This record gives sequence, C-alpha cells and structure tokens, in this order.
Amino acid sequence: MPDTSNHHRICPLCEACCGLEIKVQNSKVISIRGHDADVFSAGYICPKGVALKDLHDDPDRLRTPLIKRNGVFEAASWEEAYAEIERRLPPLMAAHGRNATAIAVGNPSAHKIGLLTYFGKLARALGTKNVFSASTLDQMPKQLASGLMFGHWLSVALPDITRTDYLLVLGANPLVSNGSMWTVPDFRGKAKALQARGGRLVVIDPRRTETAAVADAHHFIRPNADVFLLAAMVNTLFAEGLVKLGTVAPWVNGVAEVQLAVTGFTPEAVTKRCGLSAETIRTLTRDLASAPRAAVYARIGTCTQEYGTLCSWLVDVLNTLTGNLDAPGGAMFAKSAAFASNTAGKSGIGKGVSTGRHHARVSGAPEVYGELPITCMAEEIETAGDGQVRALFTVATNPVLSSPNGPRLAKALDALDFMVSMDIYINETTRHADVILPGVSPLEDFHYDVAFPQLSWRNHARYSPPVLPAAPGQPEEWQTLLKLAAIVQGKGAAADANTLDDAQFVRDAQRLFGAHADAVIQATQHLKGPQRNLDVALRSGPYGDAFGRKPGGLTLAKVIESNPTGGIDLGELQPRIPEMLRTPSGKVELAPPSLLQDLQRATQDLRGLAPDLVIIGRRDVRTNNSWMHNLPVLAKGPFRCTALIHPLDAARLDLQNGAMAEIQNGPRSVQAQVQISTEMMPGVVSLPHGWGHSLPGAKLHVAAHRPGANLNELLDDQLRDPLSGNAVLGGVAISMRPVAGTQPP
Ligand code: SF4
Repeated sequence: MPDTSNHHRICPLCEACCGLEIKVQNSKVISIRGHDADVFSAGYICPKGVALKDLHDDPDRLRTPLIKRNGVFEAASWEEAYAEIERRLPPLMAAHGRNATAIAVGNPSAHKIGLLTYFGKLARALGTKNVFSASTLDQMPKQLASGLMFGHWLSVALPDITRTDYLLVLGANPLVSNGSMWTVPDFRGKAKALQARGGRLVVIDPRRTETAAVADAHHFIRPNADVFLLAAMVNTLFAEGLVKLGTVAPWVNGVAEVQLAVTGFTPEAVTKRCGLSAETIRTLTRDLASAPRAAVYARIGTCTQEYGTLCSWLVDVLNTLTGNLDAPGGAMFAKSAAFASNTAGKSGIGKGVSTGRHHARVSGAPEVYGELPITCMAEEIETAGDGQVRALFTVATNPVLSSPNGPRLAKALDALDFMVSMDIYINETTRHADVILPGVSPLEDFHYDVAFPQLSWRNHARYSPPVLPAAPGQPEEWQTLLKLAAIVQGKGAAADANTLDDAQFVRDAQRLFGAHADAVIQATQHLKGPQRNLDVALRSGPYGDAFGRKPGGLTLAKVIESNPTGGIDLGELQPRIPEMLRTPSGKVELAPPSLLQDLQRATQDLRGLAPDLVIIGRRDVRTNNSWMHNLPVLAKGPFRCTALIHPLDAARLDLQNGAMAEIQNGPRSVQAQVQISTEMMPGVVSLPHGWGHSLPGAKLHVAAHRPGANLNELLDDQLRDPLSGNAVLGGVAISMRPVAGTQPP
C-alpha cells in the first residue's frame, strides 16, 4: 500500500502567505493545491505555490556544503566547511577589524523564521557597520515613512479592502503580486467583491497592468512623477476645504505644516510633470474625499524611484487628511499575535525612529534601521583604506542580478579575500563565494510568518510543521547562523548551537520576564530555537495566555492544533490609534521635518523636463525571485523577459515586434526582445528584473536555457532616494535601437 499523507503548509514564496494542501506519497510530493479550509486564504493559490515541488526536487538545489578549491567548488562535510571558515575569517578580522566584514541578506529570509530571527545574531557577532539587505532595493521608503509617522517600520497602514468603498492604487500590481507590504491573497476576488458592493478601484500606473485591466478607471502617469500627483492631491484637499481627520484628530500633529509645504503643488503646476490633467487630479481628490470609506495604497513603483520616501509619506498623508486613517474601510493597522513591536512595551508612545547613526564609508549614505544601501556594497569592497570590506557573508540573496550595476558588483566580489554564502543555489552571486552552506528546502522546514501578520488584510496566527524530513546531518538554518556567530566571536567551530541558544534564551528570559523568568523557562523547556521563541512571543503577545494568567489565550500548542484549518482567525482589522503609536509624542507625525525638507527637492524638480523615453520594471505572476526562473513549472510558456513598448514609440524607433533591440543608458546596454503593446504609456518601456542568467559559473540549468536580459545592468548604482537609501530602479532615461540580424532568445 502506498504511504500517503496530507499536509497543510503556508506558502513561503511571496508575501500573500496562502495556505496550501500538499499530498505526499512515499516521501514524494504528488500534488499541491490551495487549502480550501484555510481561515486566511480560503483555497486561493497562484502558479508559484505549485512550484514548491519543483524547488524541492530541483537537481540544481544544493544539498551539501561546498568549498572552492583552485577555483572549483567541491562537496564538503559541514565540519569541513566550518573549519575552512574558522581557518580564514578570524585572522582576517584580527588583521583588519570588524568593519572589514560585511553581510547582505535577501528577501527569502523574510519568509523563514529561523533566518529572520537569527540573522541579527550573526550580524551582531560580526559587529560590522556594513549590513545590507534587499530592503534598499524594494520597500525601505515605505518602512522609513511608516516609522517616522507612526513610530515603527512595521506599523504600515493597510487598505481594509473588505469594507472599503474606494481603493486608489499607485505603482502596484496586487492582482499579480497579491500585495506587497500588504498581505492580501486573492486580491482579484476581493477587488471583485468591492466592485460588486458598488465600490470603485482606481489605478494610476505607467502601464495598464493586470490590476488596471480590472479597475473601474486607470490613468497613466509619468514614471518618477507620483510625488507631484500626491502633493497636488494634498494641495487640493486644503484648497477645496475637503480636509477631515475623523476619529484620529486628537492624535495628529503637523496638519498646518503639511498645508504650507504643499502650497506650490497646485494641480496646474504638476500636470505637465506627471502627465495627468489638472481636472483629473481634482476629480481623483474629490472622489477620494467623498467616498464614505476609502484607502490609498502605493508600492514598488512609488518606492523604487528618486522620491520613494516622499511618495510613501504622502500616501498616508492622504489617508489621514481624508479621515480614512485607522477607520474601518480605510487604511488600518494589523494586530499581530507575535513579534510586533507596536504591541510591546508602553502603549501609545515610544522612541520613534532615527537614521544616520553611522554612514557609509565611501558615499556617506546614512544608515537606516541599521542598514546601509545595498548599492554601496561594490564601492565599499573596491575602495582601499581603513574599513575596506574584505570578507562578505551573503544570506539568500543574489544582488549581482537584483541590484543596479551588477557587473560592477560581480567584479568587486572577485576582489574579496573571503566570501561565505548561505544559499540553496550556485547563482550569479554565490558563484563568487569560497564556501557555500545550503539551507533546507521549504518543505523540510516548519513555518510561522514573523513579519506578514503585521501587514495582513485580516488578523491571524498560523503555523505549519515540516512536510518532509530534512536530510540526515542537515542543520536547521538558525543553527548554521549560530555556528557562524560562534566562529566570528572566537568560540570556535566546535561550539554547539543548541547550547549557545539555551544560554541566550535564559539571558533573554531574565531580561524580559525578571522574577517570572524561571516559570517561562520551565514552560518552554520542551521546545528549542525559533519554536521556543515563538511560543514565548505568542504567549506574551496581545492574544496570548500570559503563561497561564489569561486562560484561553494563545500558545504555540493551540496554534499548531489549528493546522487543519490553516490556523487561527483573529478577526478583521480594528482601530488601533493611539495604542499602536510608538512615536515620542504619542501622536501621528504628519509632518516629519526630514520629509518636509526633502520636499524642497521635489519643488526644485517641478519644472524639470521628463526624458523622452524611460524604463521601468514589472512583476509577472510566475516570478518573484530570480531563482524561480530555474523551476520548470514556472519557466515554461511564453518568454516573459521582453521589453514592452507602445506602438508609437516602436514606430518612431523602427522597432519590430519580436525582434531584438539594444537598450542603452549611457555606457551601459543590454539586448532584449521587443514586445509592442498599447498597455504601455507612450515614452515608457518596461523590462522585468531578476533576469540575465547567462553568467559563467552559475548552476541554474533551466534558467540558463532562456537567460533573458538583466535590467539592472542598465541602472546606475549611484542613484538612490537620499532619505531611505533605496535604489532607483525606475524612471531612468534610456535610448533604444533595433539590432540587425540578432535572433530573439
Ligand atoms: S500568491 Fe502564490 S506564491 Fe504567493 S503565497 Fe500565494 S501561492 Fe504562494
């Protein structure tokens, strides 16, 4: 008889956190589908979820450590790999200091509790200022604006989509992404329900995206011009007497300062810059202000540009000034069951956030939340002097493809004295490593989302046990991070990760629980590592049992028991102001001084001329991270790495549909297949990012079959949003020309 079992697993492949039902027969996955009974996602799944099987079975996925000897990777035992790191790294640190090291982490870490909650232990053990992450290629502007306004970077105002009457979306494509910095599986279904109850979905984007295609209205906007539109909408609210703060009025600082700051941004003043008429801007503002319940949501296109933090701020200024902040049907805050700083400490007040506590050695870019811009990494390696980076750790990241000017970074990585990567592939970045330590397949790992319940459309607590056992001898990722931390701290490669973790847990319990520490240690002694920390976080969290003092409250055991329904539903979003605020004033800071000052930059740019042709990225439902191009179920079908261009632009540039073209930005150029489409705004070209799998040494055999063009080869690593350090990935001026005789991939 075949040995068959059913498992319920949260999908870790994107922010939507869908519940999956996975059937296993004789230790092989035989089917993956949406879990209909899941309390959060109700059976929704996208094509990527099914690809977990391909990821698990991928022959390219690393299953043993590798050490590079004479330029060639050789399989090694874990002991040999740790010994090699201990042989090479501590002497380098002793000779050159802690800032001669750097660490970079990618976004898959956000989907793994072991990596997310133990990465910081390695970073702290290194003691380097050179901490980089994919946040500065993506959402750092949103994190910074939210931190400045509400006191914590994960206090993000989210559209209450199931109760809203009007949803305005800028620079985001949630029909494809199912939300970003907003966890909203089955956005399509929720958008349809919004429209069925008489509500409206309006999209502003330089491309008629999949979301725009189902919207009630879509307006093109020039890339990099959202700040002008948003400021003009705020200006219009004041000019037409439409400002109303609603229930949060007693807790809002800075309304008059905002009014003064946007004085020059009249609809007429911005119309040429952003490509929308003054009348359209006024109509958008009036519709937003007059809707009984409304929310504004903006994401990647508004973050990965020169004014990313300003855009993120102005979105929530609009939500606040229209009475929709923290109101049902407006922009609300999730209340997470565990790990949320806005449920910890003193209610309604906090330290707020500060930036610039240190600066990048070469560029002087300020630190934000302990990180430097990842686009500074190459120059920190290249530039001689005290603090020059000579050793690098990478954790689940591929910045050679995902970061601007990847060729420069690749060259810099070759100049390192030592590089260690934790990764499941030899990709375009880890091919430069001296040692690679593989992580587990997601199906071999337990799962609890740390960050995304803080960004979810509905409150929930969901846990998934491992679907399949890990290979014998394979450590859990948190154990690998603790071993690495022990090596750099001089405790030696023989240090036992469990013993180190136990000792740290006792210290943490004593610090957090004082006289109750022994009871907490006793109550969790059957657990270890992240599970133990999770149990403590749940039990001491806002829904927790307080270690028995609140009978009926959450424990990890209760959340595990609820796995047949995906987890525990904790209800729709509830108003949380003022208790969730962690600003020093205990108020929503509508006019942070650094943002008002940066608005001067936009004022000076208001009359600037938009370039004739600019490039932006785009998201496809079948890709999220670059390694997804190596999974057969996602790689099949029409080639997706095409340069979308409007017919008028194609005609004037003599470009043919399906033929190749050269795209140029100064000295940088790539070749891509042309796809002519009226979904593009004239003057704007779109090329997806994360492609370019033709580099030697990478072992992604499926991806290499159709490598595509690397958008980031075109982009300038010196262009950043100055406040957040986020890279500018869109709105960059380019030229295009046909390439004679070249065949498409
Ligand atoms: S939308 Fe797709 S990739 Fe994202 S969590 Fe759901 S199934 Fe996974």
